[in-house]
Amino acid sequence: MGFRFHNLNPIYKSFVSRIHSHSLRNAGGKKNVLIPPLVSVHLRDPSSLFHGKPDFYAVPRRWHLGHSHSHSHSHDHHEHLQLSGKEGENIFRLGLAADIGLSAGKAFVGYLSGSTAIIADAAHSVSDVVLSGIALWSFKAAKVPKDKEHPYGHGKFETLGALGISCMLLATAGGIAWHALDLLMGLLSSSHEVVNHSLMHDHMHGHSHGGHHHGVDMSHPILALSVTIISISTKEGLYWITKRAGERRGSALMKANAWHHRADAVSSLVALIGVGGSILGVKILDPLAGLVVSGMIFKAGLESGYQSVLELVDAAIPAEHLDPIKATILKVEGVKGCHRLRGRRAGSSLYLDVHIEVDPFLSVSAAHGVGENVRHQIHKCHPEVTEVFIHIDPSTSQFFSSTEDKQVILEGSADHNKNTYLNDKEIEALIQSSLASKFSQEMAVQRITQHLLPGKVLLDVEVSMRPDMLIRDAMEVAKQAEQEFLRTLPSNFQVSFQLRLRQHPILQTQE
Ligand SMILES: [Zn+2]
Ligand SMILES: [Zn+2]
Ligand SMILES: [Zn+2]
Repeated sequence: MGFRFHNLNPIYKSFVSRIHSHSLRNAGGKKNVLIPPLVSVHLRDPSSLFHGKPDFYAVPRRWHLGHSHSHSHSHDHHEHLQLSGKEGENIFRLGLAADIGLSAGKAFVGYLSGSTAIIADAAHSVSDVVLSGIALWSFKAAKVPKDKEHPYGHGKFETLGALGISCMLLATAGGIAWHALDLLMGLLSSSHEVVNHSLMHDHMHGHSHGGHHHGVDMSHPILALSVTIISISTKEGLYWITKRAGERRGSALMKANAWHHRADAVSSLVALIGVGGSILGVKILDPLAGLVVSGMIFKAGLESGYQSVLELVDAAIPAEHLDPIKATILKVEGVKGCHRLRGRRAGSSLYLDVHIEVDPFLSVSAAHGVGENVRHQIHKCHPEVTEVFIHIDPSTSQFFSSTEDKQVILEGSADHNKNTYLNDKEIEALIQSSLASKFSQEMAVQRITQHLLPGKVLLDVEVSMRPDMLIRDAMEVAKQAEQEFLRTLPSNFQVSFQLRLRQHPILQTQE
């Protein structure tokens, strides 16, 4: 095997050197490990080893179907999520606390001053507390680790919460628009008394049909104004904090909740503008501002609702999000290519699966090692990724000169490989029929490795030869055996005989 070292790739090299040092360490403890029994037995009694059928295939079931496909299992990745999960939860808690503070403050001030408008506003803030509570609850529900009932995690609870808040935003926008249109119709019918009445009526009972329209009490102007301004600035501040966190995490729930905060802020602003307008005598300001704000909230509700629905139906992740991940995968050493990279979102979690292509002659364990490196790199560079499922394919690019070649051969080989793949029994039967009778005096088959390559199957046959044989003779025997063996195999098979000088240190200890 030594002569093949020059073209081994570095991962495999380190793998080999690890095995090597492992066997040396073993040797320190148990000396007999390093002495190949085949040879030592033979030294004592040359005739005892290479005769008769049972001895011929020395390690009958040791060949393995190497390097075709390996499903790498998923490993959980929780550290970073717990950190940012706490941060996200705190933002929802902040929103909830602010809503509780606002409703308590408004109720208190409204009770002291006897202003029904401020009390009505407090009632709206109570509905905000409920909504913020729902947002926090669905965010926390989404963070619960996966369990038997939800093996893919609970991320979609966040999506459901976002959808609920989006619907509420749409209803709010509708309410404000209704109110504004109502005022507008009143203004257009140009009956002064009716308009005045409707203005007062709507501002006093904004909640009856305005949804989020906040009334401003004209009998306590300073008090009402300061309560409204505090409410507006708190809500607008919450909007910015929540929106920024939502964009960082890609969480639709946070973005929707941010827009709920802003909807509250701007609808209070509309009320202020309405009051200012009626004081200045520009009554058209109220319905106009209402329509603009309604449009803003409607757009936000539509966007976050649309995003939630896409998430619920596992819509494709946009290419601009997947391309950087693909670049990360291709940078990992040992990865020759990658395809079928796809993802789906559940709240702030991103689930990926991908096929990576590796050197087809890598061992399964080394290929798995490459896959683990890919997983590690993805988690390191893209913390939003919760889980990656990696499927390992043998790279075929080295067998084709052009992509058309590849197409032709791959189409032919898909079902071809199925037919030509040999199982334990078939291999054993082939060896018994072709090699055992003619070459049992000279050599023993130690191990056969099948390589399923595009359009052909390569059999690596490791043999041991009689120790008193000259290398020149051994080469001649191997050549004859190769031709003999090839005759019994289907036409797309290739055989390569390799001389093993002593038994495999690790496989031997397992026997
Ligand atoms: Zn694994
Ligand atoms: Zn609200
Ligand atoms: Zn594939």
